[in-house]
Amino acid sequence: AEEVGGGDKEVVREYFTNDGFQRWKKIYGDTDDVNKVQLDIRIGHAKTVENVMQMLTDEGSLRGVTVCDAGCGTGLLSIPLAKEGAIVSASDISASMVSEAQSKAKEALQGKDDVQIPKFEVSDLESLNGKYDTVVCLDVLIHYPQSKADGMIAHLASLAENRLILSFAPKTFYYDLLKRIGELFPGPSKATRAYLHSEADIERALQKVGWKIRKRGLTTTQFYFSRIVEAVRA
Ligand code: SAM
Repeated sequence: AEEVGGGDKEVVREYFTNDGFQRWKKIYGDTDDVNKVQLDIRIGHAKTVENVMQMLTDEGSLRGVTVCDAGCGTGLLSIPLAKEGAIVSASDISASMVSEAQSKAKEALQGKDDVQIPKFEVSDLESLNGKYDTVVCLDVLIHYPQSKADGMIAHLASLAENRLILSFAPKTFYYDLLKRIGELFPGPSKATRAYLHSEADIERALQKVGWKIRKRGLTTTQFYFSRIVEAVRA
């Protein structure tokens, strides 16, 4: 049976503070000490970030737009958002991730004109409050079963004034992914498991709180799948 409640979250926090942090820092970095699978995931994830930046900028300039990057990881989305002039509030459940993101952002953004360095905070997304024009949550839902994802989506929607962008591993690729899942979480620390979400379930969770999907995107590489949805108030 799937564990619900606090269980998943504590396991995820522990993972992304320690072993998972080391592993994902490498995948999300730019050094060449990655294996073939990790490199593929790095490339896939970069495409997701690119797609999301495209979706966001298609609707107009981001200058002065407030954006919440929930589960920001090492800041790979927060940094390009800030470069486009967005006022970014970035947070993550893992203190290791937040401090890595903070130093990456400083390195990339300090001294640049018209750029505000994102405000970083250690927080799980369920504890975030405030209002943002746009809320983005990339590749976080994969760590939670649908039973938890519904509440996470409802909370993220409550923070957003105009736009909510989510990415998740789509269930369509379930059988494909099953074959590869061992490679996604290799080594002794198989502490976290991956949950796939059906697009219909995500859509239903959004509808329940009065939101509808406006745009959809999909990123696939050999080992990486991510469905992107942009939702607005219905
Ligand atoms: N969004 C980032 C990106 O796309 O570059 C990072 C994606 S990474 C696969 C998942 C991140 O979600 C990790 O940094 C993890 O610590 C964070 N995370 C997991 N559960 C969370 C939660 N409940 N609240 C906030 N962050 C969470």
